[in-house]
Amino acid sequence: MRRRSSPSLSSESSASLVPRVRKAVATLFISDLHIDASRPLIVGQFLSFLQSEAKSAEALYILGDLFESWIGDDAPDPAQSAAIAGLRTLTLSGVPCFVMHGNRDFLLSRQFCEMSGAQLLPDPLIVTLHGEAVLVMHGDALCTDDRAYQRLRATVRDADWQRQFLALSVAARRALAGAARAGSQAHTAAMEHAITDVNADSVATALRAAGTYTLLHGHTHRPAIHALEVDGRPRTRIVLGDWYDQGSVLRWDQGGPELQSLPRHGVPSAGGPE
Ligand code: MN
Repeated sequence: MRRRSSPSLSSESSASLVPRVRKAVATLFISDLHIDASRPLIVGQFLSFLQSEAKSAEALYILGDLFESWIGDDAPDPAQSAAIAGLRTLTLSGVPCFVMHGNRDFLLSRQFCEMSGAQLLPDPLIVTLHGEAVLVMHGDALCTDDRAYQRLRATVRDADWQRQFLALSVAARRALAGAARAGSQAHTAAMEHAITDVNADSVATALRAAGTYTLLHGHTHRPAIHALEVDGRPRTRIVLGDWYDQGSVLRWDQGGPELQSLPRHGVPSAGGPE
C-alpha cells in the first residue's frame, strides 16, 4: 500500500493507512486424528498445523480421538509425545487448547493436561461462537443404533472400571487395548453403515435439550454440513472428518463456519474404522 503524500497525519488519517486486509481470527475445531507411532504422516501433518494455522487461532478445540488409543497418562508412545510437545508449544504461545474425550482416548487425564497445557472438556458442551450457541460433542453418544457399542461405552466410562484398568501394568493395558481395537474394527466392519452413524432421534433430543440450532461433532468420519429440522425449525449438524488420509478442520470466524480438508503431501496412510 502506498502512503499518501499529504503531511496532515491526524490520528484518524494515520489509522486509515493501516492495511485492512487482515485474516479474520478463527476458532478451529478438529477431531479423529487417531495419532499413534504407526501413523507418522498424521503426527507430521498435525505438528505443521500447530505451527501454522493454529498459531494465529483464537482457540483450538480437539473433539475426541486425538489419539488412536490411550492406556493412561503414564504411557504415551513417541508419536503421542511429539503431539503433546507440539500442543505445549502452542498453549505456551498463548493459544488456548481444549480437548474432549473420544471413544479411543477417554482415559486422557490430569497429567496429559499438565504436559500439553490443554484443558479437558465435558461432553456434551455448549460453546458460544460469535454470539451463536453451538452444541459440541465427540459424537459416539449419538450412535444409539449400535447397542453393543453403547453397552461398551457405559462400561469403560465407569470410574471403577477405569481404576481397575489403570492399576494394571503398562504391558497388560497395552495388550488389552490392542485386543479392544481389533474387536472394535471387526465390529464396525460387520455393522451396516447406517448403524454406525448417528441416530436422527438422538440428534433431535440432544439439540432440543441444549436449545441450540447447531450441533458439531466428529467420530463418524463422515465430514459434511447437514441441514435438518427439529420441532419445525431449521438446524445444522456439522461433522468433522478424520485425519487418516488428509486433515480436516472447521474454521469458525465472524463469517460463520467453514469445513475444510487439509491436503497431505506424501503417501496416504491406511484408513480404518471409527
Ligand atoms: Mn471416535
